[in-house]
Amino acid sequence: MTPFTFHNPTRLHFGAGQIARLTDEIPAGSRVLLVYGGGSIKKNGVYDQIRTALEQAEITEFSGIEPNPEFDTLMKAVTVGREFKPDWIIAAGGGSVSDGAKFIAAAIALDPALDPWLIVGNRIKLESAVPLGVVLTLPATGSESNLASVVTRSATQDKLSFKNPLVFPRFAVLDPTVMASLPPRQLGNGVVDAFVHTTEQYLTYPAEARIQDRLAEGILTTLAELGPELLDGVHEEARANVMWGANQALFGLVGVGQPQDWATHAIGHELTAIYGLDHAQTLAVTLPSLLRHCLAEKEDKLVQYARRVWGLNGEGRELALAAIASTVAFFERMGVPVRLSAHGIDPQEAAKKVEEQLIRHGRTALGEHGRLTPADCAAIVAAAG
Ligand code: NAP
Ligand code: FE
Repeated sequence: MTPFTFHNPTRLHFGAGQIARLTDEIPAGSRVLLVYGGGSIKKNGVYDQIRTALEQAEITEFSGIEPNPEFDTLMKAVTVGREFKPDWIIAAGGGSVSDGAKFIAAAIALDPALDPWLIVGNRIKLESAVPLGVVLTLPATGSESNLASVVTRSATQDKLSFKNPLVFPRFAVLDPTVMASLPPRQLGNGVVDAFVHTTEQYLTYPAEARIQDRLAEGILTTLAELGPELLDGVHEEARANVMWGANQALFGLVGVGQPQDWATHAIGHELTAIYGLDHAQTLAVTLPSLLRHCLAEKEDKLVQYARRVWGLNGEGRELALAAIASTVAFFERMGVPVRLSAHGIDPQEAAKKVEEQLIRHGRTALGEHGRLTPADCAAIVAAAG
């Protein structure tokens, strides 16, 4: 294990009825900018619960933050926010709304003379951000209690992230009952995204980080067991465990003190930037192909994964391949295809475009060893046809 410092400042309110905690978190009379997406919160009661809990606050709303939040949309919210001068931003939604709110929180506080697009890609130093709280409606990204945000600019085919401790949400509400209204596509996406967040930090090479390994295996096993149950019907405990698992997958503890990969996410972001695929759809396509491409260097960890997560027996390369096959079957069971052809995308064309995009974005040394080149990534995409 390598030396690390761990700090996660987000207070978590977990469980049914916890949206009411907003009343304690936000002082009466506060100015609140409430941001949300396309309106699912108005249909499932989340919006009403928030308004009730924030009765004593002065609220301005901004809606319409889309999946893979767009820079141009977020800038409209920044204009509203610069005028309104909120004490708090409350984000109600999934990862897109939470990520979008982080950008808004940072951009409102930025010197108006500076270009907010520079926030993305960490090309500018942030001095402050508006305090943020998240009401999570879709377990997937862990964005509700981490310091990362991903923003898209479709016009230039950019999907880029930034990380800053200033945008850690001060608190997050995780009420699993709000998952009842999630369509199967989003349930599947969420479980796959959380699963891949865990593998990005776990499927590298053995680093004697035993607690982190067991945490990862606990999350992976739980998602593999309960993901299909969630798709099959009402199951309160499955909802609670998946929501907590998705949070813990990217809370920070799994990855400390050990190597991390993140090449699947880097390739996936380019696929979304080019083709507009859902985030998790890109991950399901990329991960199995990447694991096969990196089989030799990941074999020891894949063998451990095969035995502990999938309960498989055997040895070496064959067992590693069996674990990848189990992963593929699981993603398919969750309704998330593992082939680009399922999305009508030509793998050769995608490979070429991903390679060009990675070079343009300076992402030329990926993976836990920093040895994956854009050409390697192109090969991974081409093989995912
Ligand atoms: P999302 O894009 O936030 O939401 C997808 C869809 O689900 C939206 O149409 C949304 O509708 C709907 N939805 C959300 N909750 C619902 C509910 N309870 N009932 C019914 N519909 C609901 O999905 P996501 O997977 O959470 O976020 C994906 C984004 O997060 C991507 O941009 C990805 O790159 C990013 N990401 C961030 C991190 C990070 O660490 N920050 C990590 C991984 C991924 P509404 O619009 O109506 O809400
Ligand atoms: Fe992700």
